[in-house]
Amino acid sequence: MVRSSSLGYPRIGADREWKKALEAFWAGKLEESEFELQLQEIRLNHLRKQKEKGIDLIPVNDFSYYDHILDTAAMFGIIPERFAFEGGAVPLSVYYGVARGTKNATASEMTKWFNTNYHYIVPELSGASPVITENKPLIAYREAKEKLGIEGKPVIVGPLTFLKLSKGYSASEFDTWLHTLLPLYVQILKELAEEGVQWVQIDEPILVTKLSDADVARLKTIYETFTEAVPGLNIVLQTYFESVDRYADIISLPVQAIGLDFVHGLQGNLEALKTFGFPADKVLGAGVIDGRGIWKASLREKLALLEEITALVPAERLIVQSSSSLLHVPVSTERETKLEPVLKEALAYADEKLTELVLLAKAVLSGRAEIAEELEACDRALQALQESEARSRDDIGQKVVDLRVQQPERSRPFAQRHVAQQAKWQLPLFPTTTIGSFPQSAEVRKARQLWRKGEWNNEQYAAFIRQQIDIWIKLQEEIELDVLVHGEFERTDMVEFFGEKLAGFAFTQNGWVQSYGSRCVKPPVIFGDVAFTGEMTVEETKYAQSRTSRPVKGMLTGPITIMNWSFVRDDIPREDIAYQLAYALRQEVEALESAGIGMIQVDEPAVREGLPLKEEEHAGYLAWAVKAFRIATCTVQDTTQIHTHMCYCEFHDMIDSIEAMDADVISIETSRSHGELIHSFELNTYKLGIGLGVYDIHSPRVPSVEEMTGMIERALRVLDPKLFWINPDCGLKTRGLEETVASLRNMVDATKIARDKHAALI
Ligand code: GLN
Ligand code: ZN
Repeated sequence: MVRSSSLGYPRIGADREWKKALEAFWAGKLEESEFELQLQEIRLNHLRKQKEKGIDLIPVNDFSYYDHILDTAAMFGIIPERFAFEGGAVPLSVYYGVARGTKNATASEMTKWFNTNYHYIVPELSGASPVITENKPLIAYREAKEKLGIEGKPVIVGPLTFLKLSKGYSASEFDTWLHTLLPLYVQILKELAEEGVQWVQIDEPILVTKLSDADVARLKTIYETFTEAVPGLNIVLQTYFESVDRYADIISLPVQAIGLDFVHGLQGNLEALKTFGFPADKVLGAGVIDGRGIWKASLREKLALLEEITALVPAERLIVQSSSSLLHVPVSTERETKLEPVLKEALAYADEKLTELVLLAKAVLSGRAEIAEELEACDRALQALQESEARSRDDIGQKVVDLRVQQPERSRPFAQRHVAQQAKWQLPLFPTTTIGSFPQSAEVRKARQLWRKGEWNNEQYAAFIRQQIDIWIKLQEEIELDVLVHGEFERTDMVEFFGEKLAGFAFTQNGWVQSYGSRCVKPPVIFGDVAFTGEMTVEETKYAQSRTSRPVKGMLTGPITIMNWSFVRDDIPREDIAYQLAYALRQEVEALESAGIGMIQVDEPAVREGLPLKEEEHAGYLAWAVKAFRIATCTVQDTTQIHTHMCYCEFHDMIDSIEAMDADVISIETSRSHGELIHSFELNTYKLGIGLGVYDIHSPRVPSVEEMTGMIERALRVLDPKLFWINPDCGLKTRGLEETVASLRNMVDATKIARDKHAALI
């Protein structure tokens, strides 16, 4: 028998009912008992669906009230002291306190789950004395069995991954922590075995990152302990998002099955499988259906891949599964009623992927003929997309071929451009600016709704936007900022806005995925060749410039950010998609320049998060990411000043790449990790214009002049004053009007103090 398995199902619900329930509960509009009932219904629904689809190994305990790492921490009573947790099962008030903060205690940190756009709550170990508060996997297993007769497969985050993702301990304490947690894991597993659980999925995605010899030894200890203590239980050691590091060591661990990603780690895992083989006493979970992308799989290709695999691992020891949990894809394409049929037919969200898994398992066992009809339908759908007009445009295809071999470069090096730009703009020492967006008030959001609904025509909406621009140009002049922006009032989202105007994009109705907690995002879909179809930002920027004699910066989202925050096609390399986007943006940059806009910012906040999981691939990715930025920005005149902006603060390992982007000015978020960033500039001199954010925009607090003066002075110890800019950390669209104006006034006051102090030195 060839089993099909699901590694995890999206929590949010087909209609985002999970999100709605959470938010209603937080807002006090839902009693706890009613909330529990609603969540149970959602949970059971998901299990029922997987059963109906015919999945053999259905996951339980993958469901969460917020995040699975937080669940694991809560299961072990690892709750920071500030939440005054008193033991026993963790109450929802404490659970959500850790996730979202309370009146008295700040929330735990949240960070990205590997290279996905999902964020988990970072467990804080310091001061914790772990105990089992509740055997959650057991509760989930019982529920599925009692309510639906499903023999579920509990999913648990493995100890190595859990500890590596936690903080609040030093490296030398790692093993002490491991030995504290191991008996608790054993207890959980024992209780599962006693209950009659057949399979447990232990997720260890950390195995795809670089492992040390010590880590391998730890893995041995962990899994030997488990099998010795709970001999009857079958463990699938599950990895995902890349190929495993140390394949040979991992496959010899004493577990019954190993799950490998044959989509995102295809090359590495397949090669390792061929080189080292696979132990005859183990089952292989072959992750062949993409748990991250939204595209229908070519069943034909997947079958060929499975045949390659079954040449090495007999079919009876195979589980056909998704490459990772389906948490990262939307629920079902059923509700996509507005997409072009050719596109809709080529999509597979979670539910459709379950069907694919079942079909593949069937065909591996009984041959292709068994699914002949489905195979043909699949071929037809994929071929139709491939042949559709928007999919490949000759002009763009040729352009990318050219761009691949070119070295895009500004006509002169920065030092010369800097002189030309200073001569033209006559900016004062420490020029002040903002990152682009100003508060999107209720009024702004309402106006957009009216326009989207058709109650306002284009001209009414455009007039409203102009009015907002007027208000803010005046305010910026009053505050005495040096380089102004138009405020981005016409944009809800910095990627969607451009996607709607470029060719090659589609927007789904229901392509929601969980980003963190109840927050869901609906990424645009890049399904075809991206092409510039007309000016996107010129009108508003030109208008803003017409209202002031100070320079107004044009504002674009960069190619890598647009790509990383979209679902992208998987038939061409990401590098090519980046170049297509870059080339389209270049045309917008040129249009802005021709319209008299002499400073243009191309935001790239998502460059860092696109870094591949494998360190050896970093350099390759960064090289084409930098190149894409340069393609977009290199054709302007020397006097045109290119700005860029990045949000994230861990830059120490990529300062060279940032410099290579060759932007005349970069603004970066720093206030939350000032020390670290300053330190990296001590080690590397940065030779281009740079503005370090001098205040945190994530809070409504108005920072004092002294505080900002402190930030400025510290930065000036390591940066060249002649190249230094002063700006907030990021865009201000989530802030209120009053606090924004007050903060910017203080920022300008702090700048004046710094100018007085440093003018003489230069
Ligand atoms: N220009 C954008 C803004 O100000 C930049 C946002 C970002 O970096 N995330 O909103
Ligand atoms: Zn930012």
